[in-house]
Amino acid sequence: MSKKGRVFSGARPTGRQHLGNYLGAIQNYVALQQDYDCIYCIVDVDALTTVETTQDLRQNTFEMTIDWLAAGIRPEESILFVQSHVPEVLELHTYLSMVTQIGKFTDLPTFKEKVAQQPENVNYGLLGYPVLMTADIVLYKADIVPVGVDQAPHLEVAREIVRSFNYRYNTKVLIEPQVKHTEILKVLGIDGKAKMSKSLNNHIELASTPEETTARVREMVTDPARMKRTDPGNPDVCNVYSMHKIFSPAEEVEMVNVECRRAGIGCVDCKKRLASNLNTHLEPFRAKRAELASRPGDVQEVLVEGGKRARSIAQKTMEEVRQAIQLP
Ligand code: ATP
Ligand code: MG
Repeated sequence: MSKKGRVFSGARPTGRQHLGNYLGAIQNYVALQQDYDCIYCIVDVDALTTVETTQDLRQNTFEMTIDWLAAGIRPEESILFVQSHVPEVLELHTYLSMVTQIGKFTDLPTFKEKVAQQPENVNYGLLGYPVLMTADIVLYKADIVPVGVDQAPHLEVAREIVRSFNYRYNTKVLIEPQVKHTEILKVLGIDGKAKMSKSLNNHIELASTPEETTARVREMVTDPARMKRTDPGNPDVCNVYSMHKIFSPAEEVEMVNVECRRAGIGCVDCKKRLASNLNTHLEPFRAKRAELASRPGDVQEVLVEGGKRARSIAQKTMEEVRQAIQLP
């Protein structure tokens, strides 16, 4: 294949995906398939650093898989798999950990964030998470990793680990991944303040019914300065308007922009229109998703196949890695 390079990206199995995941990650994954060989991984092992119970892990993996497939990940072309199906990553993680200096690890923003979120569970895996992430990337010899700004420090760690490994064992086996800064727009939740997130329960799920979506949109916080229907509003500070810009036809976006400012349209009407456009946009996705949900065996097969393809790349890399270390 004459594509530009190999992309790797992983996401934790958070279950049904929301508009934030869709606009911030999945759409980008789908688009990258055009120009790159893509490997997309559901990182279930990573999830163990933060989950309290694993009882939903399988279901969450399934829900996320059908969301990704319905959104346009093409398993005939890209590799879609589950991290734990390729145990070689755990072996590589151990070798990499021994060429990794722990100096800066406790200062990484995501580590500090997790410590604040779960002070009662500051586990070793949480600290080593960037090493496991590095193992995932380099195991598949990915040259390109699409990340948002928050993940950039981890990519720097990954590059350092690769240099350190190659230097220590006088090899070129591991490839230094390049960051591909994706323009990830930060989607706000229905509160209009925080980033849309499942754990904050301020999200709109892609798989919701049209009625659920409409009800959720109705809850969205608009321009807080607009108290009454007759007050003019400011679309520039309104999350409903931001979503109109993504999901509504241009003329309607312009109409909302103009009419909101002169109180020609109220928030209730404005939200009804958004909900309707959002539902129209998601209709094909939802039909495909429902179809996939009715064939769980085939979905599992996609992951098993993806795992096999990923594993054959991984096994080859590991032979080279063991050789470089001079393990007997
Ligand atoms: P959690 O509640 O655990 O944070 P989540 O559903 O928000 O879960 P993440 O694991 O944080 O999901 O994110 C998965 C992917 O979706 C990441 O690539 C992330 O950048 C993207 N993403 C998540 N939320 C948003 C958002 N609000 N706006 C843009 N991108 C987002
Ligand atoms: Mg999040």
